[in-house]
Amino acid sequence: MPSTTVAVATMKVAQVSKPGADFQIFEREIPEPSAGQVRIKVQACGVCHSDAFTKEGAWPGIQYPRVPGHEVTGLIDEVGAGVSEWKTGQRVGVGWHGGHDGTCRECRRGDFRNCRNRKVPGISYDGGYQQYMVAPIEALVPIPETLTDTEAAPLLCAGITTYDALRRNAALPGDVVAVQGIGGLGHLGIQFAAKFGYRTVAVGRGSESASLAKKLGASGFIDNTSTNPAEALQRLGGAQVILATAPDSKAMSELIDGLAPNGKLIVVGVASDPIQVTPVQLITGSRAVQGYASGTPADSEDTLRFAELTGVRPMIETYPLEKAGEAYARMLSGKARFRVVLTM
Ligand SMILES: [Zn+2]
Ligand SMILES: [Zn+2]
Repeated sequence: MPSTTVAVATMKVAQVSKPGADFQIFEREIPEPSAGQVRIKVQACGVCHSDAFTKEGAWPGIQYPRVPGHEVTGLIDEVGAGVSEWKTGQRVGVGWHGGHDGTCRECRRGDFRNCRNRKVPGISYDGGYQQYMVAPIEALVPIPETLTDTEAAPLLCAGITTYDALRRNAALPGDVVAVQGIGGLGHLGIQFAAKFGYRTVAVGRGSESASLAKKLGASGFIDNTSTNPAEALQRLGGAQVILATAPDSKAMSELIDGLAPNGKLIVVGVASDPIQVTPVQLITGSRAVQGYASGTPADSEDTLRFAELTGVRPMIETYPLEKAGEAYARMLSGKARFRVVLTM
């Protein structure tokens, strides 16, 4: 009897084998989707600063080896049992919100964003630094036709975070809104704020950022290395919202006195040192400081549609999957303009 060998289909992944380890390009068997899941043939995956949680093991409970990546775009190439509303060949994305339990206190009240058992792709399960990825359907986002895979990918984390933080606040068209930082998050935040009709003021380091800020739609620029940014904002009447995107707690603290009465500092830049503020600063004018974490896939869908409608696009640098280590180092260096995206 002739012996038969069953060819196992394999794919390339960029995995982290243990906390702090370098990226490893590895061949793995292509995974099968279970019930309620789809398999995505990944086309692009953004490299986000939050991938450091996986790379460095800074998130409790990560199991290794782990494939990072939560800014994923691609094509559904297989659907699991019971999946009827998503089709093979459909272009989809997966962002930071990688699934929710539907049963916790928050989910029962419709607040899926704050699910107590929320899953994050690349942390809770393998993410987009690979050729094929399996994702639960509640994490999927349809991608509008006019956005390319590499453009849409960063909008699923950096994009939605700034878009959603800005749209769910008390600023009205014409109000002063400041965006602190002109980087991966900030360059999108400035564009969204301008398209929302805010009087958008970018706050950055060094005068060379001024022309870029204008190009992105800002009507004003404050160089916080030569000007007191809070005083500059007060000369404009104070900011209704300050979107703090650069992970620099000191720079965030220095902006709080630039808030208008009832103004809010919304923190999306992930830093671990404390923001300093006195009760007097907050009580005077009823000011607030609030953190904001991404959003649901439905919010991502809105972000992509808005980007399609208004021309908001991320500025990106692309690297092939095989160079994941190099791409990650580029992102960490802070020199990328502005989002690094892997292509498969
Ligand atoms: Zn991210
Ligand atoms: Zn829940």
